Amino acid sequence: MPQSVAIIIPCHNESENVPLIYQALMKTFQTDLTQLQPQIWYVNDGSTDDTLAQVQHLQDSDAQVHYIDLSRSFGKEAAMYAGLVTAKADYYAVMDADLQDPPAMLPDMYAALQEGYDMAGAQRTDRSGEAPVRSFFSNLFYKFINRVSQTQIVPGARDFRLMTRQVVDAIVHMTERNRFSKGLFSWVGFKTKYLPYQNIERQHGETSWSFTGLLRYAIDGIIDFSDAPLTFVSMIGIISFLGAFAALIFIVIRAALYGDPTAGWPSMVSIFLMIGGIQLFALGIVGRYIGRIYIETKQRPIFIARKIK
Ligand code: UDP
Ligand code: MG
Repeated sequence: MPQSVAIIIPCHNESENVPLIYQALMKTFQTDLTQLQPQIWYVNDGSTDDTLAQVQHLQDSDAQVHYIDLSRSFGKEAAMYAGLVTAKADYYAVMDADLQDPPAMLPDMYAALQEGYDMAGAQRTDRSGEAPVRSFFSNLFYKFINRVSQTQIVPGARDFRLMTRQVVDAIVHMTERNRFSKGLFSWVGFKTKYLPYQNIERQHGETSWSFTGLLRYAIDGIIDFSDAPLTFVSMIGIISFLGAFAALIFIVIRAALYGDPTAGWPSMVSIFLMIGGIQLFALGIVGRYIGRIYIETKQRPIFIARKIK
């Protein structure tokens, strides 16, 4: 009995890519990876085009095709989670629908698992075809998060990976609602091998990520995996307190020695504003963490499926 592999593909408006990725996967499994029995799990993340119809069409002719139709768009992270909890297989792969993750890498990933690794992931080695500003900010993000967080995130690592059942069990046990997968994949540990590859352009459709969306994703990632921003604001608090204390001593002594001519209202107002600003900034950062606690304590489901087939 061959071992099975569940391929989880989150899809948000990917109607043209659905059949293409299917063909690409079939080719790989019929030629280079015949030792594994594939189950292809499309997770329809609230698409507004005919993605679901395309998937159902494939399913009519191939029993290896399955789908989870989410009740609305829950985001890629939730869609991946939905696939990982629902599918039952010996191995699991996660990949994008847009063919940016080449199925031809799966045999090498499988070979890495045979060598004794628990997880094999794809790592982008170049960022050609990407706007320079974007690359700049991504590099900045990786440097920053790896400095402030215990969980190391490999630069350029994609979500595209092949994992053993054991790794997936660990991942689905992390039931947090704020799912920053790059961090979760790293947090669970295990032996991971990164296979380098050249970036490939998206086939059809458009990326669902805007620049502000990516920025929010980066900030969320930092907040989910580090409390350094909290330490940072308490440092600012301590420094401004010490500064103010030194200034106070100076003013008291000066008033005792030279009297107290009333002056310096403009500087006073500036100081008030600055302190007020620092306080609001600190409150804002603390607020982000409290917001996280609020969302997590509600214990809402990570995804809701309309249909699983
Ligand atoms: N995706 C999703 N839900 C979303 C956004 C994206 O399921 O809210 C899917 C999308 O269909 C694709 C994958 O996640 O299969 C990666 O998305 P995209 O190509 O837009 O991201 P990029 O490759 O630009 O990082
Ligand atoms: Mg893409």
